[in-house]
Amino acid sequence: MSDCIFCKIVAGEIPSNRVWEDDRVLAFRDLNPMAPTHVLVVPKKHIANLAEAGQLADEDLAACLRGCAKVAELEGLTQGFRVVSNCGPHACQSVQHLHFHVLGGKQLSEKMD
Ligand code: AMP
Repeated sequence: MSDCIFCKIVAGEIPSNRVWEDDRVLAFRDLNPMAPTHVLVVPKKHIANLAEAGQLADEDLAACLRGCAKVAELEGLTQGFRVVSNCGPHACQSVQHLHFHVLGGKQLSEKMD
């Protein structure tokens, strides 16, 4: 997607603070962190969000979840972490490229909304 900011980050056209990547997934630090560790894990192939998961290969979806676990390991989140994927307007999704927020490094709120 030529006008997608996360596709441009994947392509290296926009700078990012990369944490980890493999052939299917890129993980980079969120510009506006909400926790001591706040990393975004994105598939290198573009889909808008989880509602379009059927358009992504199972291997890419699995790689995203493994990528979240890898980020948690690399960031030393031994006390736990949270993974969030906002999907659509009710969830306040602001970037229309599937991404998983990996949050940790402090005691997170019990609230989920
Ligand atoms: P969401 O609101 O779930 O769509 O999350 C999008 C996230 O992308 C927000 O937390 C933003 O801070 C983050 N973000 C937007 N642009 C960039 C960027 N260029 N580099 C890193 N994070 C970004």
